[in-house]
Amino acid sequence: MLSLAPINAQEWAIGISGFIVTIAFGFLVFSRVSDRKGILMTYVVTAAMVWAWAGFFYGLTSNPAIAREWRTLTSVAVIYMVVSMVYFAATFLEDIRPLKRWERYVRDGFLIGSTVLAVWTIGDFFGQRSFVGELSGPSAETLAPAAGPFLWLIIFQNLFGAIVMGYPLVMRLILDPDKRSPGWRQARVYLLSFSLGTLSASTRWGPWYGIHTPPALGFLAVPLIIGGMFYLIKNYRLFNMQVLSTQLLIFAMWTFVFFRIILNPTTLEGALPDIFLLAGLIILGVMLMRSVINEFRNREAMEEVRREQAIDHAKTEFISIAAHQLRTPLAAIKWAFSVLLVGGNLTPEQHDLIEKGGKRVDALVDIVNDLLDVQTMSTGKFRYVLQENDLAAVVAEAAGAFDETARQKGLRLVVENPQRSLMAVFDRHKVGLAFQNLIDNAIKYTKEGEVHVSYAPEGSGIAITIADTGIGIPKEDQERIFQKFFRSAEAAKIFIDGSGLGLFIVKRIIEDQGGRIAVESTPGKGTRFILWLPRTAKIAASAP
Ligand code: ADP
Repeated sequence: MLSLAPINAQEWAIGISGFIVTIAFGFLVFSRVSDRKGILMTYVVTAAMVWAWAGFFYGLTSNPAIAREWRTLTSVAVIYMVVSMVYFAATFLEDIRPLKRWERYVRDGFLIGSTVLAVWTIGDFFGQRSFVGELSGPSAETLAPAAGPFLWLIIFQNLFGAIVMGYPLVMRLILDPDKRSPGWRQARVYLLSFSLGTLSASTRWGPWYGIHTPPALGFLAVPLIIGGMFYLIKNYRLFNMQVLSTQLLIFAMWTFVFFRIILNPTTLEGALPDIFLLAGLIILGVMLMRSVINEFRNREAMEEVRREQAIDHAKTEFISIAAHQLRTPLAAIKWAFSVLLVGGNLTPEQHDLIEKGGKRVDALVDIVNDLLDVQTMSTGKFRYVLQENDLAAVVAEAAGAFDETARQKGLRLVVENPQRSLMAVFDRHKVGLAFQNLIDNAIKYTKEGEVHVSYAPEGSGIAITIADTGIGIPKEDQERIFQKFFRSAEAAKIFIDGSGLGLFIVKRIIEDQGGRIAVESTPGKGTRFILWLPRTAKIAASAP
């Protein structure tokens, strides 16, 4: 059985300030690294820990003077346990809406009032008898707690705290539109565990006033509250278990050594090894904390990436299925239209209608093809076949495909230097696709004037320009036109059936082969796309 010599007030004062500084230091470190719920939870657990330890030491002590000190410490701890639980509970309401001004006043006012109470309590360490009365009895068995004249204030603080704490939880349960959300369930478990915990804790006050209610359930309070918390952590991932248990372990070690120092009845020199031990443990603890949190963050970041990849994968899968499903019926419609146009005995109106319909179907086929291209790009099946080809021929072919469309629209489609041949190594089909996309856009977004295509050797490669006298692209959109699905508002008005994927595909095709693409445009005047392809394409590392 432990029997401790009385500790003088000065030692207590030094010890307690040391402890407070240690904890404040620890919290500072953690508050930089944890989320708000995590920090508040750490406060709750720390207060509960001090409360439980102090109660434990009280039981071990046969010295009435020391027993009083322990009792007083439990009072301070229980005051702050309730305060931190109030703040913690408030976060559940804050999750769904900001606290109203009066709610914040009540919460913060409760903290201030409680702090005044706690400071007053400290006087009991120095001989005041406000909260813990004189304990008597020659042995631990007969040491009975005795209420001081103001103990009821702490009891009142506890009970009032229970209301202040219950309010945001109940509000969350009522106001949250999503009754299945993790936050809602957490609030429910928290409400249950804290109310049962507080209820059982309240039975501990009886003996102070000579009321013994068998069975005394006070010992259940900490397990209930902490148990509820851990249940939340484990089942609803309130916050990371690993980080939390490390924090707790470190705090437990610090507190243990701290109490060894202040309870050691020997001289200061005698306590030196323990003081060094505590200093070492603080440094090691902080380092350990940091590394655990770093590791946790890395893991979280990796999980995030994996989640995004999975979502991306699901999206591409969906696009792929949808596009493939669309292709067959579209081909059938197109075929039916062409049969009607050639062989059907149509009136001029009907002919016109079917022809227009056919064009819309063509636009749809283009979209579906774009979608399939993007899908093959992101699944890594977009392979390049590099061979020596004549770039001039590829340009001519791409432009040739739009001769008729340009003529119908009354636009001049000019290819400069059509006769010159320019040999280079690239993927003929894909580069052809890119040119087609660009010329197609130029024609689509130009009402009158011309589309001008030119090419010439430049440095170690070939520069290709596709210029038009069309609607142009607003400055703020020029950065974004190469993004997936982006279409500028003006363009969407002129041409409804765009996918916004064309330029994304073009950029990929050109850059994957070591080339560059840039745009210059003046709204209302025209647009110029400038491409550069190396003579010998090298597939970029990022390309599949
Ligand atoms: P889509 O043409 O299907 O909308 P693109 O990816 O090919 O998709 O083009 C993206 C956007 O870039 C277009 O919606 C349009 O706003 C703009 N754009 C592209 N080419 C031109 C051009 N030649 N003139 C004006 N705007 C263009």
